[in-house]
Amino acid sequence: MELKIGVIGVGAIGQDHIKRITNTLSNGKIVAVTDVNDQQAKAIVEAFDLDARIYENGHQLIQADEVEAIMVTSWGPTHEEFVLAAIEAKKPVFCEKPLATTKEGCMRIVEAEMKAEKALVQVGYMRRYDTGYRALKQVIDEGQIGQPLIIHAAHRNPTVPNRYTADMSIVDTFIHEIDIHRWLLNDDYVSVQVIAPKKTREAADHLQDPLIVIMKTKQGTVINGEIFVHCQYGYDIQCQVVGEKGIAHLPDPASVILRSEAKCSTNILTDWQYRFKEAYDAELQDWIHSSLKDEVNGPSAWDGYVAAVTADACLKAKATGKTTMIHLKERPFFNQPFIAEKR
Ligand code: NAP
Repeated sequence: MELKIGVIGVGAIGQDHIKRITNTLSNGKIVAVTDVNDQQAKAIVEAFDLDARIYENGHQLIQADEVEAIMVTSWGPTHEEFVLAAIEAKKPVFCEKPLATTKEGCMRIVEAEMKAEKALVQVGYMRRYDTGYRALKQVIDEGQIGQPLIIHAAHRNPTVPNRYTADMSIVDTFIHEIDIHRWLLNDDYVSVQVIAPKKTREAADHLQDPLIVIMKTKQGTVINGEIFVHCQYGYDIQCQVVGEKGIAHLPDPASVILRSEAKCSTNILTDWQYRFKEAYDAELQDWIHSSLKDEVNGPSAWDGYVAAVTADACLKAKATGKTTMIHLKERPFFNQPFIAEKR
């Protein structure tokens, strides 16, 4: 069995995903592509030697008979319209984050799935497929550290480009932390506070960097999250879960420990693509296999909605300096309640 995939947007991550589907993963085939820049679409079809048709726009691609599933990897502001069109066409859709740029847009997608009476959307929160985070979740779920009380997390980038805006520290960077911690804890957030420490001299005038985001969950766990996008030294994702009877750390990516010239050293990655390469592979492989079984296994449209609501609250907390409450709508029926809600 082979899932015939149409790709909307062949920029950086679109190309990356086309490459992994074509060269690394099984049971998926790129049969159609589109991009606002049609020269770019042609170049990608040639570069990867794809047997794929180039469509003028995303809507034509979604409607095409040969396309069974859609991958949306265009700019964030275009995601909602393409995801809604894919649901309307009853085709499974993998959408890179954000699901939509507003919580209202995400809710329109959740409602469209409800109307179609079918979950069709997977959102690109790939950390859930990282082996380290999976092992960490298993330790928590098995109760090995008791109830989780605190998470200390850090998201550090060596530097960011000039086009990186003040809001991007939340909506582009911290959004992955928002998704992964509620997944790790089987819990949702109720409030958030944002604190601005002393600013690094490396950051542009318009950016507050680093930031500390403190989120509290329904069960009372506090997540103390650092965002530091000019840390200089590497791309470093840290997560330490403090429980009632133990502490669990996210493992660092495997790297040789070198003892030489009176030093003991190990490399730190500098690039997010390498840090989560295997997670991206696993998330798309899962999407392909579950789509072929007419299922959605990964992060859902509801997860995309929760991330958007939480990110909005983070932005408000950042702007006001005040603790901001997080209010979610009621969860639709085909998304099962979290384990923590039952505990
Ligand atoms: P990018 O390099 O700018 O690529 C976006 C591509 O979509 C560009 O080729 C752009 O064309 C094209 N495009 C824009 N509007 C379109 C439309 N209406 N129809 C068809 N194509 C359209 O950006 P990127 O870094 O790949 O990011 C794409 C999305 O993936 C973003 O939402 C980003 O947040 C997300 N992303 C997620 C992760 C993750 O870790 N999960 C990592 C990276 C990116 P032009 O450039 O020619 O205008």
